[in-house]
Amino acid sequence: MGIFFQKGIHVRHNKRTSALQPVRIEHCSEVTLLMKQHIGAPCRPLVVPGDLVKVGQVIGDTDEGLAVPLHASISGRVARLEILRVVTGEDVKAVVITSDGKMTLAEDLAPPVLETQEDFFRAVRASGLVGLGGAGFPTHAKLRSAAGDADTLLVNAAECEPYITADHREALDAADDVMEGIALIARFLGIHTAVIGIENNKGDAIAKLRSLCAQASSHALKISTGILPSRYPQGAEKVFIHSLTGRVVPVGALPSAVGVLVMNLASVAFLGRYAKTGRPLISRTVTVDGSAVAKPMNVRVPIGIKLNELTEFSGQLKSAPAKIILSGPMMGTASPDLNAPISKCNNAVLLFDRAEAAVQPESACIRCGACVRGCPMKLQPLKLEAAYRAGNAAALRALCAMNCMECGCCSYVCPAKRELVQRIRLGKGILRTADTKAKADAAAPAAQKEAST
Ligand code: SF4
Ligand code: SF4
Repeated sequence: MGIFFQKGIHVRHNKRTSALQPVRIEHCSEVTLLMKQHIGAPCRPLVVPGDLVKVGQVIGDTDEGLAVPLHASISGRVARLEILRVVTGEDVKAVVITSDGKMTLAEDLAPPVLETQEDFFRAVRASGLVGLGGAGFPTHAKLRSAAGDADTLLVNAAECEPYITADHREALDAADDVMEGIALIARFLGIHTAVIGIENNKGDAIAKLRSLCAQASSHALKISTGILPSRYPQGAEKVFIHSLTGRVVPVGALPSAVGVLVMNLASVAFLGRYAKTGRPLISRTVTVDGSAVAKPMNVRVPIGIKLNELTEFSGQLKSAPAKIILSGPMMGTASPDLNAPISKCNNAVLLFDRAEAAVQPESACIRCGACVRGCPMKLQPLKLEAAYRAGNAAALRALCAMNCMECGCCSYVCPAKRELVQRIRLGKGILRTADTKAKADAAAPAAQKEAST
């Protein structure tokens, strides 16, 4: 079907938890709320050690770009503020709250008053919502940027990464909230068409959503399902848009450039609930799975729970995990230990035993072309890798390195086990550095001239 998704790859789905309703963690001993949980500026802590906080109370915020407020996910006392080195290698401030065991709600939580588009955007910001599919873009900013340009809402329920079934469960367990969220977004953005894109390996969710789409559609808003083949990375934004609409998002542009707004299904369901309850984003569903896990499950967790408490809750491990991944195995991030907290963007915790985590030794490229055939962006991963290794920014640019969406298909299919995506990511860093230097060099003569006058 056109330029992008004629490729992509088959991966083992391992969706062992799709029939398991999330189990809710009612109480946890402590949460560690990172002040930076998503794309955009980090929050400033608004509490100090010793403060008593309630569930839903704002504990961090900032006026700087693209931020959203952060809310207490349990009630209790602020134990300390600390700096935590997170999985990306950054040092991030965090507020640690010790539970009082009561989960007392903040008194001022109430459904937002939504009359105008501006009310809606402000309420979405106040809810603390960021993309729950993993991208972590602040939703209020996404909605603002799409307003006036988007004619179609695409709800992303593809969930193409192996293991993860958090959105699948949301589609089954909170389909009414999904419909209400769609209606809200459509109302305030003047959208008349919504399509829920879902892979064909989720038959029960497709049946449920289809019947609700028929009921919820009206002359003003047509809601339908778009059934997609289960191939990875079907849920990647550009692939998803093209598969459902045939529209191609230009390089460097947002989906609104082609009249589309894409929202993850769990984010849409959250908005539907938030409009009714006023409860901000304080919990999320996480799939706990992997070869080291004795009892895979979906768990509804307070944001900020640490992996060690989560894994304790989900039962004995079969073996000590040799590899810990937050979110999916293809695009997730490895954590060195179980001391990391769950953030708003994490939809899975995957724990693998030594055998599964073993890194295969690399060998020389045999020029089989599997990485080129598997790339959904029509790139040449083997040449990009070579350009990175040569430190050749011009070649990286010519090979369109910035078009790489880091889906990992190339590394997955490579018989020589070459670390292609890792090196392409580093190659993108070379390009960014080169661009920054070029800008600084271009600005220098002007600054010199100004200084000399
Ligand atoms: S898949 Fe691996 S071995 Fe084959 S061409 Fe690409 S880099 Fe070379
Ligand atoms: S990681 Fe980049 S180069 Fe590799 S398959 Fe995905 S888009 Fe293509």
